[in-house]
Amino acid sequence: MSAHPHIETRVVEVDAAALDPAVIEDAAVLLRAGGLVAFPTETVYGLGANALDDAAVQRIFAAKERDPDDPLIVHIADADAVGTVARDVPPLARQLTDAFWPGGLTLVLPRAEGVAPAVSAGRDTVAVRMPSHPVALELIATAGVPVAAPSANRFMRTSATTAAHVLDDLGGRIDMVLDAGPATAGIESTVVAVEGEAVTLLRPGAVTVERLEEVLGRPVARRERESSGPSSPGMLERHYAPRARLVYGPDATVEELVTMAREAAASGARLGMLLAEGDAPGIEDEGIVVERPGPQGDLEQVARGLFAALRSLDAAGVEVIYARGFSREGAGLAIDDRLRRASAG
Ligand code: AMP
Ligand code: MG
Repeated sequence: MSAHPHIETRVVEVDAAALDPAVIEDAAVLLRAGGLVAFPTETVYGLGANALDDAAVQRIFAAKERDPDDPLIVHIADADAVGTVARDVPPLARQLTDAFWPGGLTLVLPRAEGVAPAVSAGRDTVAVRMPSHPVALELIATAGVPVAAPSANRFMRTSATTAAHVLDDLGGRIDMVLDAGPATAGIESTVVAVEGEAVTLLRPGAVTVERLEEVLGRPVARRERESSGPSSPGMLERHYAPRARLVYGPDATVEELVTMAREAAASGARLGMLLAEGDAPGIEDEGIVVERPGPQGDLEQVARGLFAALRSLDAAGVEVIYARGFSREGAGLAIDDRLRRASAG
């Protein structure tokens, strides 16, 4: 018998520009009753549960097969609700929420009483964000509870940026998926810890470090290793991984990567490449499967298409993927972080 009893996963299309209140109400009722609802956010699709209900939150861990030590982000529909999730909101955190909410910035703050312990994986802190996606906002507001929601994919795998990705990973394990088309940023939120006067970057993401520093008027501290500064437990070395082995060459030229891919293809392996638009034209005619999520000059477009590109290379059945590096500026820092982890281990 499977460890996962099959449940019917209802998929409902929603038009973000003309929300159907009956659909949102159905989803909100499921959340209040302890169910699991996947929903679109502007970063990636989230797998939501009532953040005040420990049993519901534990169902997220079971469905994703997530490490119980990897805490979740709590989503709220109103910036003022941060006070119900965090017991202390320092002025610096307010400055950041004023500037970036709703949007792709998550703050790690001292955890309030009512939040389910499973959300924080036993820690005294909680990660919180107000998303900007209209479906996410309406769902959370209608549910009337904060919603814990990690990315809606199996643990350690490539994040889900469409409802089809969610179904591939979690179909039969969750109650409902709201399908509002592809996520617009395509990469997870930026996570920072705020402790008094210190802001530390725990995970690069949708909000760039450059924009954070502009608003703060000073540099954001980087946490170079697990042991230094505030910890970010879920930032595993291996994460976001496709099924294929990923070879990431941030310092290699495209020509070098193409040569490696050709050599591996010659020995009979089914090869994939993750490149930029305009790279190695015609290489697909040699039987190599290529994804080009965007041009080097538009890193936001690359970020938007990154996880879908990795999933589509997997779907093509490649055994190895050679991925090029992109600039590490702006959205490039998060792209580099994801490709590094996807290739680790
Ligand atoms: P996900 O929801 O899958 O995008 O991942 C959430 C990530 O946010 C975790 O893996 C951690 O890196 C970070 N995070 C969540 N809660 C905390 C916390 N209390 N302290 C530090 N980092 C956190
Ligand atoms: Mg995740």
